[in-house]
Amino acid sequence: MFDNLTDRLGGVFDKLRGRGALKEEDVRSAMREVRIALLEADVALPVVRDFINSVTEKAVGQSVLKSVAPGQQVVKIVNDALTEMLGSEASDLDLAVAPPAVIMMVGLQGSGKTTSTAKIAKLLKEKHGKKVMMASLDVQRPAAQEQLKVLGEQVNVATLPIVAGQMPVDIARRALQSAKLQSFDVVMLDTAGRLHVDQQLMDEMKAVANEATPKEILLVVDSLTGQDAVNVAQNFSEQVPLTGVVLTRMDGDARGGAALSMRAVTGRPIKFVGMGEKMDAIEPFHPGRVAGRILG
Ligand code: GDP
Repeated sequence: MFDNLTDRLGGVFDKLRGRGALKEEDVRSAMREVRIALLEADVALPVVRDFINSVTEKAVGQSVLKSVAPGQQVVKIVNDALTEMLGSEASDLDLAVAPPAVIMMVGLQGSGKTTSTAKIAKLLKEKHGKKVMMASLDVQRPAAQEQLKVLGEQVNVATLPIVAGQMPVDIARRALQSAKLQSFDVVMLDTAGRLHVDQQLMDEMKAVANEATPKEILLVVDSLTGQDAVNVAQNFSEQVPLTGVVLTRMDGDARGGAALSMRAVTGRPIKFVGMGEKMDAIEPFHPGRVAGRILG
């Protein structure tokens, strides 16, 4: 993850740190290289522009250039700006409502939505001691409800019994009723995906959200699709009140553009990253740690 970016930035920073004194032109030339490195990592252009402007402004200040270790200071400024770009602080799930708290999972087909639903359910159960129920509202894909049931058995999390022919809003209502009766803490609703963002999908999500009043609406996107993932997130966030993003397939993403631009472009925090196909391959997203990893 981020290997190329780490290598490129490492080269720039070694040069900066190697000098005793720094002139404004040295900083500007380093920033030109950082700019290219970010663009090669597939970070959205406006995000790169803002980042470079803000870092340059701080780094060419006299207090930096005249300090004892100017190179070190510039590296710190870049680190802080990267952390800010990634979202500053880790955003935990907010489940503070009278139970059951509803988490609605949305996203395009194949993004890793069903897998992430089961991973998060497992995490909530094992790490936070929550009693979790999952329900699939995907009546589009014949095997979808069955897929969630199989994953539920695998991670030992309850799933709502399947009733053939029920519509998504009705399934959501039944899930909530059932969860209340059985004192579940959390209900996870895995909604239907589509190949593209379309109006029917958005309308269905809005209807489900109205019925279930979710505390969290998490959009699942595939990091390997780079800026497309960011565009999809922007599209969704204009129509449904997303509370966060789950970025999947980060285990295979060497560039990291989606992770780096998501917060700045959509205003929504990345809450989890998927790191593989296994059920425990999910991690909370920590901007500071990720920035540290990028800087090597
Ligand atoms: P959905 O259509 O959005 O529900 O997608 P699925 O949950 O069925 O996932 C599609 C495929 O992506 C499955 O083969 C998953 O195992 C795989 N997948 C999901 N998340 C990750 C991840 O973080 N890393 C990797 N390598 N594969 C993943």
